[in-house]
Amino acid sequence: MFPGPQIERLQIERIPVLSDNYIFLLYDPARQIMAVVDPAEATPVLARAQQLGAELVAIFNTHHHHDHVGGNREILQQFPQAVVYAGAEDRGRIPGQQVFLETGDRVLFGSREAEVFFIPGHTRGHIAYYFPPIATDEAGQLSGDLSGDLFCGDTIFSGGCGRLREGTPAQMVDSIGRLRSLPDNTRIWCAHEYTLSNLQFSLTVEPGNAALMQRFEQVKAMRSRQEPTVPTTMAIEKATNPFLRWDQPGVIAAIGKDTPARTFGKLRGKKDLFRG
Ligand code: ZN
Ligand code: FE
Repeated sequence: MFPGPQIERLQIERIPVLSDNYIFLLYDPARQIMAVVDPAEATPVLARAQQLGAELVAIFNTHHHHDHVGGNREILQQFPQAVVYAGAEDRGRIPGQQVFLETGDRVLFGSREAEVFFIPGHTRGHIAYYFPPIATDEAGQLSGDLSGDLFCGDTIFSGGCGRLREGTPAQMVDSIGRLRSLPDNTRIWCAHEYTLSNLQFSLTVEPGNAALMQRFEQVKAMRSRQEPTVPTTMAIEKATNPFLRWDQPGVIAAIGKDTPARTFGKLRGKKDLFRG
């Protein structure tokens, strides 16, 4: 008897680099392969690949900024067969890009498949990769991993969002709106450790938000112990991140009632001026 196709839990590792970036490694021990999301630098990625004895088969880039693609070339020198994925709108801006992704495209890693979301706003070519939770088997048993994993680059941050470098508030609110409808237990792997300073701003917007105050205290304690606050979850962000709350009473009270795009734009404008 042959076993059915084995679907495995994603093993995700986080490598802190530069001043506040995270590189994420996906590792499939059954196949001895790995992939990397937004390699700002090559050295720690190659070191880990060597340690694991794994072949790096894919680079998943979210957008073209140097702190997300800076390691592409050097990784490709070591693993020339690795496939470089990024958004179709980033054509010409991603070193080594071979696959040009759009919303609804699917990318494979080992036994798992990620859905692609085109989420312009931070940049005009930004995409996210979403690995849905492992589904039930034929017997209806939940196997393995009950949370999905979202790699969203510089779009949603814990407690904040990316600056609108190339996009409009209308694009960003639409992009975040689509991500926000993913399940509450989705893990959000954002590319920077900005949580503490983001929450300082969030508290000026919603000083009466109890979940936010609690999260702030928790994050302060975690950072004082040098612990990462990433991944966060969609539930946490929906409760505490004003950039997912443009339609919530607390944020409307602070910013004024307007269209989602204009409320979001005003909020982002305030954050741009904020010095914690
Ligand atoms: Zn960026
Ligand atoms: Fe970045």
